[in-house]
Amino acid sequence: TSLPPLRSRIFKIIVIGDSGVGKTCLTYRFCAGKFPDKTEATIGVDFREKVIDIDGEKIKVQLWDTAGQERFRKSMVQHYYRNVHAVVFVYDVTNGASFRSLPAWIEECRQHSLGQEVPRILVGNKCDLRDAVQVGTDVAQKFADSHSMPLFETSAKNPNDNDHVEAIFMTVAHKL
Ligand code: GDP
Ligand code: MG
Repeated sequence: TSLPPLRSRIFKIIVIGDSGVGKTCLTYRFCAGKFPDKTEATIGVDFREKVIDIDGEKIKVQLWDTAGQERFRKSMVQHYYRNVHAVVFVYDVTNGASFRSLPAWIEECRQHSLGQEVPRILVGNKCDLRDAVQVGTDVAQKFADSHSMPLFETSAKNPNDNDHVEAIFMTVAHKL
C-alpha cells in the first residue's frame, strides 16, 4: 500500500491560554520528555515538533505555543490559526484569573473559524501545587462540558500528578 501524502501526516496543534499557565513547559515536556531547566517568556510563537507512532504510522505533531498577549497582535494571530488540526486550551489550576480568561480565548478561536468541528481539549496545569489550587475539578469539568471539551488535569513539572502530558497529546493525535 502507498503512504498518504506527507501533508496529511503532519498535525498542527495550537496551545492557547494566559501567559504563565505553563504552555511552554507542557509542549517542552511532550516534545523533549522533561521539564525545562529554565523558561524564558515566549516572544511571538514557540514552535516544537515530535514524531510519534500511531498504529504503525509515523505522525509529525507540531505544537505551536504563543505569548499570552498575542491576542493583540492581529497579523501574527492570523498565521498562528492557519491550518490548525486541534486546539489545546490551558489554564493554571492555581490561578483563577487564567481560568476566567478561557471564554475570551475560546471566542478568539471561534473568530478564526475554529469551532467545535476542530477537536479542542481543556488542560488544567500545575496540579503538583496541591495546596494552592484555586480552580477545582468540579468547576472545570462543568465548564469543559458546557463547551463540549474533554478536561485533563496535569502537571508539566511532575509527570506523576494526574493525567500524563504525554497521554494527553497522544489522545489528541489519536483523535486526528
Ligand atoms: P507560558 O507563559 O504559558 O508558556 O508558561 P511557562 O511554560 O513559561 O511557565 C510559566 C511558569 O510556570 C514557569 O516559571 C514554570 O516553571 C512554571 N510552571 C509551568 N508548568 C508548571 C507545573 O506543572 N508546575 C509548576 N509548579 N510550575 C509550572
Ligand atoms: Mg510560553
